[in-house]
Amino acid sequence: TATRTRLVLGNWKMHGNLADNTKLLNALLAAPRAATTTQMGVCVPFPYLAQTALALSGSSIAWGAQDISVHAQGAYTGEVSGGMLKDFSCHYVLVGHSERRAMHAESDQLVSDKARAALTAGLTPVVCVGESLAERDAGQAVSVITRQLAPVLALGSEAVLKMVIAYEPVWAIGTGRTATPEQAQEVHAAIRAALKGAGAEQVQILYGGSVKAANAASLFAMPDIDGALVGGASLVAEDFLAIAA
Ligand code: PEP
Repeated sequence: TATRTRLVLGNWKMHGNLADNTKLLNALLAAPRAATTTQMGVCVPFPYLAQTALALSGSSIAWGAQDISVHAQGAYTGEVSGGMLKDFSCHYVLVGHSERRAMHAESDQLVSDKARAALTAGLTPVVCVGESLAERDAGQAVSVITRQLAPVLALGSEAVLKMVIAYEPVWAIGTGRTATPEQAQEVHAAIRAALKGAGAEQVQILYGGSVKAANAASLFAMPDIDGALVGGASLVAEDFLAIAA
């Protein structure tokens, strides 16, 4: 882990409004961060990218979006391209969040296509993978993640080295039920093994699923857990800051 900088990314999901965002962003900016090398970022709803870029510009906090179109431009009503995200100086974009896989039927191949579109636009894709409770109970956690990652790995090691991977067991997202550090580490190690090749040691692999200040340190103590993707707790400045401390 010594060579990998810790990364704590917030996923606001479909929360926020101009007034609350201003308070949250200002609170993040006001916190002293000199004592930590942890990288921090927020992935916000599309309409608030301009507000976020304006607020965080020049700070050490990065920002990004929660989805991206596979297309560069054209007749794709409602979609947002990588170039548009770049216009708002996004650094990150989530791809394949379990909510999009489940509610928008995003396939493993589509998620890979989105990761590629992000890289083409000069963005860092945060590729989210994770098994359901039924899959975990059936002993299929690692095989599901291997399947989800296969089209992503097919983009080649040069591409993979520019990505962040987030392991988010579906049963732990928004449920208050966190994977134990050992459960998460087992999957993180399997993901790193699947990345193989030169450079796998460089790729940041985040854990996501009910991360809070109270459980973050024990997760981050594991050798292959390089940070967190944080949903609910990223909406409360003091909680998010405590995780990223
Ligand atoms: C997420 O949405 O990526 C997530 C991990 O949510 P939560 O922290 O609320 O479980």
